[in-house]
Amino acid sequence: MAQIEPIARMVTELSRLPGIGQKTAQRLAYHIVSMPLEDVRNLATALWQGRKAIRYCSCCGNYAVDELCEVCANPQRHTGEICVVRDPRDVAAMERMHDYRGLYHVLHGTLSPMDGVGPDDIRIRELMERLRAGDVHEVILATNPDIEGEATATYIARLIKPLGIRVTRIAHGIPVGADLEYADDVTLSKAMEGRREM
Ligand SMILES: [Zn+2]
Repeated sequence: MAQIEPIARMVTELSRLPGIGQKTAQRLAYHIVSMPLEDVRNLATALWQGRKAIRYCSCCGNYAVDELCEVCANPQRHTGEICVVRDPRDVAAMERMHDYRGLYHVLHGTLSPMDGVGPDDIRIRELMERLRAGDVHEVILATNPDIEGEATATYIARLIKPLGIRVTRIAHGIPVGADLEYADDVTLSKAMEGRREM
């Protein structure tokens, strides 16, 4: 379909988003064009300001507005436990179940030799620095139950063992190959309860 230039540009930008194909991008673009100007301004401002306001927590790598994320800045959290996850969306999933009171460490990826992602490409060094510096007594490995997630958990467990810190892996309540962030709260809660020693 031939589009006038401003709409074509909206379609191009929208279709860069994950899960948005050409058709959906077109539908969204035509919808946006029909919206009141003020609503479009609010949408654009929310995206722009939200993106600008977010940075990474200097301690755990979670999304943060300040130097530390809300979890790390909370004095009520148990500093002796660190739950290791792949990305900030997994922290959000864990926080939704309101069970876990410890801290997190976000790796920002998992080991994947096929894609050229090695130990130095994810935040393993930062995790080891935290463990050597602090009073951590348990590390819970909560990477996804897929090949990369398991390989990453095994690799990290081997590094931690010599430090004499307890290492556990969340149980397989979560279907193999599934993403942590899509697990429902009960499943996630059970996976934490049933975690096993590595
Ligand atoms: Zn943090």
